[in-house]
Order: sequence, then structure tokens, then C-alpha cells
Amino acid sequence: MKAFDPYRILGISPQANLEEIRRAFREKARQLHPDLGGKKELFLELKRSYEFLCERLAPNRLRILKERPRGDNYLLSFLDVTARELALGATVTVVVPGKTKTCSHCQGRGQNPSGRKETCLFCEGRGEIEFSGAKRHLRIVCPRCGGEGVIWVDICPHCRGRGEVSGERELVLKLPLGARPGDILHLPPQEEDEVDVFFELQVHPSGNLIFEGRQLVSRAEVPFWSFALGCPLKVETLEGYERVALPPRFQPGTFFTLPNRGAYREDGTREDLMVRVEVVFPLDLSPAARKKLEEFAEIMEKKEGQNASSGY
Ligand SMILES: [Zn+2]
Ligand SMILES: [Zn+2]
Repeated sequence: MKAFDPYRILGISPQANLEEIRRAFREKARQLHPDLGGKKELFLELKRSYEFLCERLAPNRLRILKERPRGDNYLLSFLDVTARELALGATVTVVVPGKTKTCSHCQGRGQNPSGRKETCLFCEGRGEIEFSGAKRHLRIVCPRCGGEGVIWVDICPHCRGRGEVSGERELVLKLPLGARPGDILHLPPQEEDEVDVFFELQVHPSGNLIFEGRQLVSRAEVPFWSFALGCPLKVETLEGYERVALPPRFQPGTFFTLPNRGAYREDGTREDLMVRVEVVFPLDLSPAARKKLEEFAEIMEKKEGQNASSGY
């Protein structure tokens, strides 16, 4: 078996930066995507290579804060992540807000400098207007075309005519290990004109995994007959679904833990995963199932009757 070589799979040199890696992934993904007729295994291999390199190259620039920032020269934004991403310290794409800037393509005019131009009708292309009075002759710069004699007709494609562009940036960032719902993540400025950005985490459930407070919980539903018979439980963990035996004398509505299978701590060790077991009852039973259940109830009631009478 050949060793896993993400660079070869993406067709890039080992010196490639994150931007080059992303570009290579986008191009290859277009050829290999199963929806476009590509082989699924090849696409998955490509995706795995891409995620592996993103993970390795993305510098961990986010720091965990326990409280909101002070002062006013900063931006506060929300960061939507899933419970799984947060627990594993996954790499996520983050939209970093930024202050609006004057469009550099059109210098804030909103018109396309390399688009069509029409002669200014106000000054007839001369760029200035002359006024002749009895004694004085006055020339002023044409207020309509600003002295250029032409009007730019097409809107600037860069800012779509607004004259300014959003300072928003998309970054691939690794969530710091140990971050929990309620924490604030701090992204220090990278360049001179940037400010500190703070993210408030918004954590969404992933499948059956949710955070209850700062604790990662896996909700496991079990049909009442499996529970009564003591069948192993299907539990979603951070590594996927697993069959787990219920602890002896376990009661519904409570929980048990899987040691060291929960969210990562800052030091790279793991917390326990809490498994909350909910016993569920089917809303409708088939006639056959109902008959069996009635038989079961009869046996149980007889037994109870015997127990009750033995008490006298
Ligand atoms: Zn523009
Ligand atoms: Zn003019």
C-alpha cells in the first residue's frame, strides 16, 4: 500500500501555501466530484488530503477568552460551529468582518474606469465651461465630468457601483482545543489597518451530540423493548456510531459516561463523554406487535396478582 501523500493527491508541491492548496482542491474537486461523474473514492481521498493539509497549515490564531473585550476599537462577530467541530478543535472557514474601504478599482467613483465612456454633453467634451459677460470672461472646470470631458458609463464590477467594498475576509482557522460554548475567541490583528476581532461561539448540535453547558453529551434513544431486554445501545461518539452495553441496573432518564471520549481539553487530553439515555415508545403498533404486547402484559399482571395475593 502506498503511503498517504496529500501533496501528490492534490498535485501540488510540498511548499504550497494555504491559498494554493485551496485552489488546487477546488480545481480537482470539479473533476472528481461524484455528482459530476467522478469516482467517489478518489473524491474522498482528495477531500481527506485537503482537510489534512488545512489542519496542518492553518496556524492557530484564535485564543480563548472567558469574557467579553473592553474598549471600543474592535469587531465582535458570531461564529457558528457544530458541537463536533468544537469538541475536536476542527478547522473551519471563518468570515472575519472588516471596515468598509474605498474601492481601489474605481477610486470610490462607482464607475468602471476601463468601461465605455461617453462625451460629456454638458461641456461638449471640453472639460470646462466658459461664461462670457460684458467685461469678464470666466472659465470653470465642468462640474458634470470633473474636467475629463467624458462620462464613465459602466458601473464598476469590483464594487458594483457602490464605490466601496466590504473589508470582510474569509479565513481558514483551527478552533482552539478546550474552547466551549460561552467562550469568546480572539483573533488578534494581522496587519496594521486591522483591529482585534472577537467571536462569540454559537454551537449547534451535530446529530445526537450536543453541549449541555460546557459538557459534551450524546443523546441515545433506545426503544423500550431493547432497554427491557438489555440490548447494547447505539451511541454516537466523536468517532462515529458504536454499540455500547448499558451499565447493570441502569435506569432510564439518567446517564452514564464513556471515559476519555468527550471533548478535547486545551492540553490535548479528553474529557468524558456523557451518554444520556432516553427510552422511547412507538406511537403506533402493528396489530401483531400489539397482540404480543398484550400477551406480555397478561403475564406481568398475573405475576403481580400472585405477588399481591401472597401478601394477605
Ligand atoms: Zn469600484
Ligand atoms: Zn463635462
